[in-house]
Amino acid sequence: MEFYPHALLQMIECFAKLPGIGEKTAARLAFNMLKWLKEDAEKFSESIMRVVSEINECKKCFGYTEKEELCLICKNEKRDNKLLCIVEEFSDLAAIEKTGDYNGYYFVLGGRLSPIKGIGPESIHIDELVKRVKLDLSIEELILATNPTVEGEATAFYIAKAVRDLNKKISRIAFGIPMGGDLEYTDKVTLRRAIEGRKTF
Ligand SMILES: [Zn+2]
Repeated sequence: MEFYPHALLQMIECFAKLPGIGEKTAARLAFNMLKWLKEDAEKFSESIMRVVSEINECKKCFGYTEKEELCLICKNEKRDNKLLCIVEEFSDLAAIEKTGDYNGYYFVLGGRLSPIKGIGPESIHIDELVKRVKLDLSIEELILATNPTVEGEATAFYIAKAVRDLNKKISRIAFGIPMGGDLEYTDKVTLRRAIEGRKTF
C-alpha cells in the first residue's frame, strides 16, 4: 500500500482501530470519506475531538456526562430514588433507557468479572457501588442487570454477596434473552419484560 497517499493511509489505520472493522472495511470507509463535503468532514473531526475531550465519567453512576460532574440521569430529581439498576456498560444503560419503562437510577460497573481475563472486583466499580448503596439510604432495591453470560452471572452473584448485609431488596432481571445474549442487542419488548419480570435474587 506504499502507493497510497500518506493521509489516506493514516485514515485507514485509524478506522481499523475500531472494533469489528478490518483493513478492507477501513479502506472502504476512508475512500468514501474522500468524497465528503468539507463541512461534513469538519463536523466529523470536531465531534471526535469533543467526545474525547468533553465526555467524562459521571461521578455518581460512572455513566457518561458532558462537561459537568453529574450526568443528565443522576441530575434528574424526578426519577425514582428507591431503585438502582446495575449494568455492565453504558451501552446497557442506553438499551434499558430506550425501553422507556424504567424510571430509577443507574450504576455502571465499567465491565464484568472475568478471572480468565484477569478482571477482578478491583478492576470494575464494585467498591464504589457498595459505598453508594451504604450512603444512599433512599435506595430500597438493587436491580442486577448484568448480561446473561457466565461472566455477567458471576458478577451479579458477587455483587449480591457484597451488599447482602445492607438490607436492600436485590433482584435479577428476568431473561427472555438466551444465555450468552447481550442487553445492548436485545429488542425493546424482551428487555422491557425482563425488567418487569425481575425476580428476587
Ligand atoms: Zn450519572
